[in-house]
Amino acid sequence: MEDCIFCKIVHGKIPVNKIYENDNFIAFPDAAPQTEGHTLIVTKKHFVNSMDLPGSLGYGFLDAVKSIAEIKIKEGFDGFNIVQNNFSSAGQVVMHCHFHFLPRKNGDGKHLRLVK
Ligand code: 5GP
Ligand code: ZN
Repeated sequence: MEDCIFCKIVHGKIPVNKIYENDNFIAFPDAAPQTEGHTLIVTKKHFVNSMDLPGSLGYGFLDAVKSIAEIKIKEGFDGFNIVQNNFSSAGQVVMHCHFHFLPRKNGDGKHLRLVK
């Protein structure tokens, strides 16, 4: 997908500070972080969202979540939220499958609103 920003990142055409990588996912900081350490977990292949993500990639996704959590906990975070927007009606802006990893700290004053 030539015009896809996340495909460009996956293929190294736009440099990012890669936090984690496995066979099917890479993770890097969100350009407009909603919390300290806000990280995007992005599929290496161009899927639009969860609806066309093969179920077999679920294992790699969970590995990514747990590995990034270990990194963030070592950095001093106490927990995390995982958020995903599917389709523009739900707030998806980048049409390349990705998950938001939002590190949290005790008493950080942030409140996750599932639906505004
Ligand atoms: P969505 O609303 O599609 O779930 O979230 C897309 C996210 O991608 C947003 O949080 C936005 O800040 C992030 N983003 C968009 N373009 C770029 C980019 O070029 N680099 C990085 N690191 N993040 C981006
Ligand atoms: Zn893409």
